[in-house]
Amino acid sequence: MQCCVALFLAVCHQSSAGVVTYSKSSPLVIVTQPSASLQEKLAAKELAAWLEKIVSQPIKQIQTTVAPHNSIVVGQGTLARQLLPKLNWENLDDEEVVIQSVGSSVVIAGGRPRGTIYAVNRFLNRQGVRWWTPWATTVPHKSVLQWKGLSIRETPTFEARDPFWFHAFDRDWARRNNSNSMHSRLTEEDGGKITYEGFVHTYYPLVPTSKYFSVHPEWYSEINGKRTGENAQLCTTNPALRDFVVDQVRSLLEKNPSVRIVSVSQNDCYNPCQCEKCRALYQAEGSESAGVLSLANYVAEKIEKDYPKVAIDTLAYQWSRHAPKSMKPRPNVIVRLCSIECGFSKPLTDPSNSTFMKDVVDWSRLTKRLYVWNYVTDFPNYMQPFPNWFVIGPNERFFADNGVKGLFEQGAYQSYGSSMAELHAWVQAQLLWNPHQDDRELIREFLKGYYGKAAPHIETYMNLLANKASKTQMGIWVGPDAKFFDAKTILMCEKYWQEAEKAVSKEPEVLWRVRIGHLALRYVILSRWVQLRRDAQQYGLKWELPESRKVVADDWIKLAKSPGPVGWSPITMMNESGYTPEQWIKRFEFDPLPPTPVNRVKENSLPKDIVVPDGAKTVVVQDDEAKLYNEGDWAEFRQDVFASDHAAARLAGTNHEWAFQLPALKLPEQIFKGKWKVYLVARVEPGADLTKTAFTAGVYSEDSQKGLGGASPTCVEMGKNYRSVLLTTTSLSKGSYVWAAAADSNSKAVWIDRVVFVQDK
Ligand SMILES: [Zn+2]
Repeated sequence: MQCCVALFLAVCHQSSAGVVTYSKSSPLVIVTQPSASLQEKLAAKELAAWLEKIVSQPIKQIQTTVAPHNSIVVGQGTLARQLLPKLNWENLDDEEVVIQSVGSSVVIAGGRPRGTIYAVNRFLNRQGVRWWTPWATTVPHKSVLQWKGLSIRETPTFEARDPFWFHAFDRDWARRNNSNSMHSRLTEEDGGKITYEGFVHTYYPLVPTSKYFSVHPEWYSEINGKRTGENAQLCTTNPALRDFVVDQVRSLLEKNPSVRIVSVSQNDCYNPCQCEKCRALYQAEGSESAGVLSLANYVAEKIEKDYPKVAIDTLAYQWSRHAPKSMKPRPNVIVRLCSIECGFSKPLTDPSNSTFMKDVVDWSRLTKRLYVWNYVTDFPNYMQPFPNWFVIGPNERFFADNGVKGLFEQGAYQSYGSSMAELHAWVQAQLLWNPHQDDRELIREFLKGYYGKAAPHIETYMNLLANKASKTQMGIWVGPDAKFFDAKTILMCEKYWQEAEKAVSKEPEVLWRVRIGHLALRYVILSRWVQLRRDAQQYGLKWELPESRKVVADDWIKLAKSPGPVGWSPITMMNESGYTPEQWIKRFEFDPLPPTPVNRVKENSLPKDIVVPDGAKTVVVQDDEAKLYNEGDWAEFRQDVFASDHAAARLAGTNHEWAFQLPALKLPEQIFKGKWKVYLVARVEPGADLTKTAFTAGVYSEDSQKGLGGASPTCVEMGKNYRSVLLTTTSLSKGSYVWAAAADSNSKAVWIDRVVFVQDK
């Protein structure tokens, strides 16, 4: 019935001006023009193919110089120019989009090389076509299509758009989602892409130390009065070095004329040059970035005349992040500012990220070509939920509002399957085109389009986790023990994913997508299995998973390594260093013993073997305040009548990791004043050789990245009973912690009762 009404309307409008209508009785013609570029031909082909999918009918493509009735004219040829004579065709940006109704035609065109391709993408988006991933697309089905009064001109907000996720490198996905990432497999036919030479960290590649350090040590960083060619930078104020870099860049450009950006950027380490001249420059400009920028500016000036379309790219990264006071990047210099130190559970405009926010504002005052290298995944744990979903939109808007022109969103780029990668890449691609879209709406749209009926459950999960994480500082190196993953939250999340799977249990394709999404949470659950079970027991939380860890682990690896749909391939890497699923899953070969409930008695008195000077304060901390790593395998809490509170942390002698860690943050404030003697109260189950080390323990400072002392008693020294072992006398900071490790098979086990701090007088 509806169909007839629509058909009737279509016929009525067929003859009216400014309307293009497709229906069975009113065919549509797609027109390419004789002068069509390679990219415009591809755009027309794409348009026809997707419209055909929408209407389930063939759509005719012709080449002509006269616009037929009811046609879509693709590309900026003679016919399009006749139809839109007032448009300033010569001034269209390379990526600009034109969609315009004229008479009984629509012109879909744009700048060259990529504009028409993007115009077709945008036009098809308006019809409801979505390319979620290389393996999932939404195409609406309609029998009638009608367009009138279209008048659209768009240019992307960011000139460099790189949603840097593994599946986003797919040629078709990248083109259809308007990415121009240099890492994508886009070809000339797709309109090409941003082309870098070198991409990043090019100081040593441009001036190889193996070749030049012995002859020109003065070209390299001076550190503590000595020139060094290792783990350092270049002496960017050295005139001969500068000219040498210019020559190197020129020869690169001669070899590869299609390059548009050449990276002249610092190595991925610290140690900028400290020679007198360099230091004077840093001092005058108030930042070490002045050294980096002065070299980039010099090279840019020298190549400008011969290569007017080429830009020199440099970094504002770690030690060079702050903008110089007055030194301006030349117009052909791109500064890429990196957000590596920021927290991503809150937007970059949050006060906790204020120094970076200031850097964005400061740099944007100096240059019109500021790019940002942003971080959108958890680098040591690609598989782990990283609840930054709701800050992506605000961050991109913040960049856009501050004149940022290029955005590299570094996600998990080495494998499929990382947490929410599908959502990230698609939402980011849409926002890179126009960050002022409603990002929450885009997220909802993706969830609905990709996960179908499971969407509301997944959205609830995202809301819960993002809300928890927003109360913490979430850098890009958080582990499965992150603060926001408390047992209650994790088990709630598990429930939402189980509900999500149930909602689509009869749709195998969508169910597979949901199950892949669920792997991220299961990664955390498997990593912390015993501790979660213990917490569930302790807090009366319902355990709605199998009893066996091995069953969950087997299920996990089976899915991770299964072939999946066309366009997908099994998961191969779980972090940036290339850790594989096969390596990880080995940890769960055997089922750990279920945690036994531990009853503790209240006990605060001091161990008898500790002598406390008159008036000295003491702090006694029981073992259950510590974090146990790989609980169930490396360590666990057990009943022990010999321990002061009748329970202790037992470290298995089968490994030598720092399985027991007590963070100073858990201690009362007074501990951070003055020096303290730190005692570990422990006993050992000795191994065969009593003269060997029973365990090692100490205090470590994360702030200074240094050990603050420790002890490694032998089994003989420890004897049979609990003993207080003095680890060190030290001052403690909030980033310090007490650690202990069993000494790898020299003892069968180490039992830790408590840690005692005695003020040093
Ligand atoms: Zn120097």
